[in-house]
Amino acid sequence: MQNLTLNEPEQVLSTYFGYSVFRPNQREAIMEVLKGHDVFVLMPTGGGKSLCYQIPAMLMPGVTIVVSPLIALMKDQVDALQANGIEAAFLNSSMSWQEQNEVTHRVKTGQIKLLYVAPERFKGQDGAFLSMLDQLQPSLIAVDEAHCISHWGHDFRPDYLELSVLKSRFPSTPVIALTASADQTTRDDIIAKLKLQNPQVFTSSFNRSNIFYEVRDSVDSTGELIDFLNTNKGEAGIIYTLKRSSTEELAEQVNAAGFKAMAYHAGLSRDERERCQDLFLKDEISVIVATVAFGMGIDKSNVRFVVHMSMPKNIESYYQETGRAGRDGLESKALLFFNYGDMHTLRYFATIDGNDAQTAIMLDKLNQMVAFCELRSCRRQYLMNYFGESHPDVCGKCDVCLSEYHSVDYTTEAQKALSAVARLNQTYGAEMITLLLKGSQSKKMTDWMRALKTYGVGSDRPATFWKSLLRELCSKGYLSQEGNPMPVYKLTGESMKLLRGEEKFIVQEKPDARPVHQRTGADKSSDNGSDRRLFERLRVVRKEIADEEGKPPFVVLSDKSLHELATFFPQTLGDLHYINGFGQVKTERYGSTFIDVIQKFCKEHDIAPKPNHLYRKSAQNNPTGSAGINKNSAERKPSAGRLQSAALSYQIYRTGKTIEEVAAERGLATSTICGHLEIYVGRGMIEVEELVDSSTINQIHEIVKNNPNARLKEIKEAAGQDVTYEEIRFVIAASGS
Ligand code: ADP
Ligand code: ZN
Repeated sequence: MQNLTLNEPEQVLSTYFGYSVFRPNQREAIMEVLKGHDVFVLMPTGGGKSLCYQIPAMLMPGVTIVVSPLIALMKDQVDALQANGIEAAFLNSSMSWQEQNEVTHRVKTGQIKLLYVAPERFKGQDGAFLSMLDQLQPSLIAVDEAHCISHWGHDFRPDYLELSVLKSRFPSTPVIALTASADQTTRDDIIAKLKLQNPQVFTSSFNRSNIFYEVRDSVDSTGELIDFLNTNKGEAGIIYTLKRSSTEELAEQVNAAGFKAMAYHAGLSRDERERCQDLFLKDEISVIVATVAFGMGIDKSNVRFVVHMSMPKNIESYYQETGRAGRDGLESKALLFFNYGDMHTLRYFATIDGNDAQTAIMLDKLNQMVAFCELRSCRRQYLMNYFGESHPDVCGKCDVCLSEYHSVDYTTEAQKALSAVARLNQTYGAEMITLLLKGSQSKKMTDWMRALKTYGVGSDRPATFWKSLLRELCSKGYLSQEGNPMPVYKLTGESMKLLRGEEKFIVQEKPDARPVHQRTGADKSSDNGSDRRLFERLRVVRKEIADEEGKPPFVVLSDKSLHELATFFPQTLGDLHYINGFGQVKTERYGSTFIDVIQKFCKEHDIAPKPNHLYRKSAQNNPTGSAGINKNSAERKPSAGRLQSAALSYQIYRTGKTIEEVAAERGLATSTICGHLEIYVGRGMIEVEELVDSSTINQIHEIVKNNPNARLKEIKEAAGQDVTYEEIRFVIAASGS
């Protein structure tokens, strides 16, 4: 690759990563780090945390140390960086001494910009690693998954505590801590434990707007799962189950139904687990049936769905596990099968022997998870509120928002249930109450129970109805639950109002139990207007390249890039400049292969390429839900040829030449070159300040402010002799007005 001297975050973003617009908070966090300050970044999974330290790493003189909890994750990140032409490496205990020495040597001789290490590195080996860092004086230390340092978080790892020495040992090295999951307590704890100095905290929205949330009461969850898979054929997904044994069983059933699936759990050997992950990453199998052990090490960006066969243990886990879908920003689904029976297992998991306080925290979290499953209001709003964000009532992208609930009067049923609780002396849980109502012949029903008036009064309804009614009564305050691990129902002060008929018990119910996506079309494939046939072809080519290079396909190119190729049909290497993910290295390495496929496809199908302004990279469609700045620089529509020519001008300009010099070198008019650069100003890749002095910029802004509809000519007249049309165009392109 050409040896460019890059000094701006935007340049690194575009040249190495192939993106042209920062997502919210990325640039701000990067600038803070570059100033040498400590930074705390809180962004959802897929929000783009990595760039917050990867870009400073490229702009700072020495090496950046990245602490990351999992070996598998490190390897993927290093692969992805290398694929973009960035020198990165990792050190971990699975490597031989020789391999470790080799990496150490490359680090010491300044050949590595980013070094990934596990937290264990910082203890052990008689402080050997810390001594090495003493010599190196790293430019930046990044602590990924920083919540692992706090026992308030949901994933405490004692090794992370070793990191508290960093600030005292390297006081002048900025530390950036990043996490996708932290409530206020955890956040404060992270900052305290890492001893961050007045860190600026950047918090991005936790809304994963590209994920569709759905919860179903499961009657035949396996059958429904197979139906669901059939509507998502060919897509990659993760299915979570609670127990190891059920992963194997379910994987078999899924395979029998014609999908390539494998089971994954902690009981497999390390080799087996690695093989399974590897096949999934490489798109050899599309479905993983796993316990929660799977996923922490997974950075696959094109996971299209996550299914929970049973409820996770808390909202944090649910959010994190579902968050593994759609990291590339494309539409994805999160489906959960809710079964109250799983509560026993989960309560058991939540109980920590000899630690009542911690147990209480865990049980409370579990109850909030149950409440999420039983919601009759927008699920996204609930999730956002949970993480301390506000969100409107209706998201339009969850099952609740898309279904028409209707009110049903269950006062009589509620009275039956409450009197069953009373007759059983408020000393039994849902199971016994239901048996009583159903008039069960079970041996659990003793003679005195069978003699009760309420015995059998609810035989006309299924047991699931009564269980869910009890929960609903509980959540509305007509019942309370006490005791652990086998909670019993008790009456409350409110119960009498229902029993005496002073109040009605109205419940919101779904009119039909068919899965939402079959009713609403929410399931339409997520092609975003791209040509499916071409997409499939590109996918095959990507897989071939990936196999050849021994990398996962999404490291070669993301699904998003393939969709853009299949939307815009770029015809030349220059056009690729406008496709997300094509930085310089990927353009050089893979560009012509993909262009060939596209050209051939266009010929076969008689498709005229789209020479249009849609060739505009942006941070749109990003998981944080912000629109990104889509500057419509006067909606000019450069042709594919012009785009190619513009790309060349831009590249020459970026070598440090003036506009006149670029024009001379290319044998074109300066006005033409200005037209080219204007496109890049519009994309935020050239700061307008580079081209126009600030007083002129202010002057033009002022004119436009007073007359927002002013035409170019009018602005020129108002600005006077000294201001050129080109300058006006640059300023307008930059402000997107
Ligand atoms: P996180 O670590 O927060 O889970 P990543 O850093 O892995 O998220 O980023 C998620 C995805 O978004 C990656 O594929 C990444 O390349 C992409 N991405 C990050 N920043 C941008 C951006 N400014 N424009 C386009 N894509 C981006
Ligand atoms: Zn909603």
